Amino acid sequence: MVREIVRYPAEVLKRPTQRVDVIDKEIKKLIEDMFDTMYDADGVGLAANQVGVPLSILVLDTSPKEDAPDLKMVLINPEVVESRGKQKCKEGCLSFPGLSVEVERAKEVKVKALNEHGEPLEILLSDFPAVVFQHEFDHLKGITFLDRLKGWRRRLALEKYQKLLKEAQRV
Ligand SMILES: [Zn+2]
Repeated sequence: MVREIVRYPAEVLKRPTQRVDVIDKEIKKLIEDMFDTMYDADGVGLAANQVGVPLSILVLDTSPKEDAPDLKMVLINPEVVESRGKQKCKEGCLSFPGLSVEVERAKEVKVKALNEHGEPLEILLSDFPAVVFQHEFDHLKGITFLDRLKGWRRRLALEKYQKLLKEAQRV
């Protein structure tokens, strides 16, 4: 089921999410809905608070469209164990429709989390999947890509977004 995506500046996007203790039916349904919502919006990642649920869950699928979905993953209570290098990438965000900004992030991250069955996993992500993960991981901490910008870059991006919002409301 496709859920509604929460848009900035909603409060739920600005607060850290809570750890998941038990992966019950409700959580499994949430994860399924998160994938439906992400694919429906042509996204490559989604955090639970982007559908209004303040829990530490994110989903990713950075597989090239024509490939089998082997990069599809669910990360519950993710933690970064190690990060290395730097890369800059233009990012979009489903909670900021129409806006894209260049953000600097680690090139490689080693991540510890639980999968949808509650089993612990450790994965190494690099390049684009690492960017997507770090973007979604920030959401879980109540941080958006705007918070990764400083000074005039942040002001400019915010102004541009507010303009986009106004234009969208006029239609
Ligand atoms: Zn986002």
